[in-house]
Amino acid sequence: MTEKDITQVTGLVHSTESFGSVDGPGIRFIIFMQGCKMRCKYCHNPDTLAFKSEKAEERTVEDVLNEALRFKSFWGKNGGITVSGGEAMLQAEFVTALFTRAHELGIHTTLDTAALPFNRSPEFLETINALLDVTDLVLLDLKEINPKRHKILTGHDNKTILDFARYLSDYGVPAWVRHVLVPGETDFDEDLIELDKFVKTLKNVDKFEILPYHTMGEIKWQEMGLKYPLAGVKPPTKERVENAKELMHTESYTEYLTRVHRA
Ligand code: SF4
Repeated sequence: MTEKDITQVTGLVHSTESFGSVDGPGIRFIIFMQGCKMRCKYCHNPDTLAFKSEKAEERTVEDVLNEALRFKSFWGKNGGITVSGGEAMLQAEFVTALFTRAHELGIHTTLDTAALPFNRSPEFLETINALLDVTDLVLLDLKEINPKRHKILTGHDNKTILDFARYLSDYGVPAWVRHVLVPGETDFDEDLIELDKFVKTLKNVDKFEILPYHTMGEIKWQEMGLKYPLAGVKPPTKERVENAKELMHTESYTEYLTRVHRA
């Protein structure tokens, strides 16, 4: 692909955020891609799920990067761009072109994915390898280690997602693993212990975060006229968050709060 071709590759972009501070290191420009096949009960971006949307725009790499570069002076040494979703992996050609051009410009690239589309067919691996070759960091959501509970939570089992985690580990791209702690859905001691064991088998994890569930996404479901699947579920208590962090040996709740409040 020539440089000119790369800049003109298009993707269906839902929206952008200029000053993201929790989706990768430093201050980041976040690009939310349109379309996702999962149906997580706590999804904060239900408006990104459909594969067609009047709000989403077909945009070129050049257009998106020109917008991102307006904020470059805020990124400092650690910031850069993060592609999130929806599911970014479903538009791998666009994200690969975007990250390739970003690397040419010296920009740090982060891929935020739930990895459901992953499979080991030669065609898919060729596509995903090209993407991983220009990805500096992967934010990988491991939503629930128990496949049955995972299916109840997201509509799919977690086989391909765990397989992607193993593949990524072997491929050697650094990863931050994230687990959203939802009372009654993803907060079971036996599962947290299993998740901890699984993550310890991976060789590429720089950070393992517990993200306490919050209800801020509920309003979007209501605005779309949808019934919120977790209506009435409250965020986990401080004790349950501390318990999960202890079982999974992640950062302390205080450290987490400090980071989020600084964000
Ligand atoms: S994978 Fe992400 S975008 Fe897709 S439904 Fe789940 S939370 Fe929403």
